[in-house]
Amino acid sequence: MEFNILEGPSSERESARCAHCNKVMNGGRSDRRFCNDLCRNTYNREKRKQEANQAGEDIVEDIIRIIRKNYALLKKLNPLEEQLVADRHSIYKKGFNFMYYTSTKMIGGDRYYFCFDHGWRDLEYGLIELLVDPDLVKY
Ligand SMILES: [Zn+2]
Repeated sequence: MEFNILEGPSSERESARCAHCNKVMNGGRSDRRFCNDLCRNTYNREKRKQEANQAGEDIVEDIIRIIRKNYALLKKLNPLEEQLVADRHSIYKKGFNFMYYTSTKMIGGDRYYFCFDHGWRDLEYGLIELLVDPDLVKY
């Protein structure tokens, strides 16, 4: 005998339920999934909405992951929280993504990019300057 997880034995398919409202559907084709067009349209619209929300969540998670990694790399490169010069390409090769940061700030006429309290700015010759936000209160 052939079984379907939701509906039981195929001989009972005449009591299949609507995928949207869960009402028992009598008659019609055995592969019917919805009791009417309204249920089918509503089901499809909600499914699309869910998929769009999920895609939005995924983007947020991806960006948080990038910023977390950037922050970890900045901390690793500058563990003593000094003002120092580093090679831009070598930090890039470690997976740093210069497109993502949490804020920018002008310090002494230069724009710095920050991931939380750790920041950088571009220098000439493929170098960057690292520093910790001097305006943050230290414990
Ligand atoms: Zn229905």
